[in-house]
Amino acid sequence: MPSTAQLEEAACILCGPAPARMRIDAHPFRVVECEGCTLVYLSPRLAPDSREAIYTGDYFKSPIARERGYTDYVADRDCYLETFRRRARPLLAWRPSGTVFEAGFAAGFFLRVMRDAGWRTYGVELNPDMVAHARNELALDDVTHGRIEDWDGRDAPYDLITLWDVLEHVGDPGALLAQVREWLAPEGRLVIETQDVSSPTARLLGKRWHHYKHGEHLFHFSPRTLRVLLERAGFEVIDVTRRGAGKVIPYRFLVERSQRIFPPLTPVLARVPGLDSKTFYVNPHDEMIVTARLRRSR
Ligand SMILES: [Zn+2]
Repeated sequence: MPSTAQLEEAACILCGPAPARMRIDAHPFRVVECEGCTLVYLSPRLAPDSREAIYTGDYFKSPIARERGYTDYVADRDCYLETFRRRARPLLAWRPSGTVFEAGFAAGFFLRVMRDAGWRTYGVELNPDMVAHARNELALDDVTHGRIEDWDGRDAPYDLITLWDVLEHVGDPGALLAQVREWLAPEGRLVIETQDVSSPTARLLGKRWHHYKHGEHLFHFSPRTLRVLLERAGFEVIDVTRRGAGKVIPYRFLVERSQRIFPPLTPVLARVPGLDSKTFYVNPHDEMIVTARLRRSR
């Protein structure tokens, strides 16, 4: 358990200091909802140094993936490539080639899919092992180890900027959006995928919802709160969808997650013969893909 020195209080990023009601008490963390704007966020939460240490360490090969990170991200390569091929489809229909920048690219699988489709790719990632993977295993060139502010903006503006599973992890999502805005082409698209706290799945599962990972998920957006955040950062939302926001996962991941959501099911699932090596496309409709562009000046 983190010490109080590793924690910080947070305020609503849309309203500033405003009354918030408790949603989940998970000592020492609390998930709260702003009474002004309905933004759901964590307070207290891990302080910046402790947060960053999560991603530079064993996050992508985590011994406690149910609480934090991934069991073995790189080993599930084929699943991620297939997931991102699905997510790339509407983007490639919009624009067959161009330049793409991804912040927090993990192992680089999405960028590899886009490069294979003929795009020029760029990215920054906090985990040094993942950057090495992207360079050495996926042969991606313009990838840098560091924070978003370490990226030099080379060859900007980009036609496409993606934030897959990133916005909910950062301490100041508004600042991240303001930064990437500088690098987006006038006709470009910003695509964000994050979990949707207002989804029926999230409501049904309550505090057992698998996206309540208090070490890493600092924000739980809804279409409404994310739209406000984007508009304040100078964007205009053009699409919000839950379609295509699913993931291709190995069967054992399903078994692992069931332990959190409904433990009695786990031994049953684990005994089903012949499924061990299978993969599934699963979309619990609790994540959203939000597409935005630069706001046109009026
Ligand atoms: Zn608020």
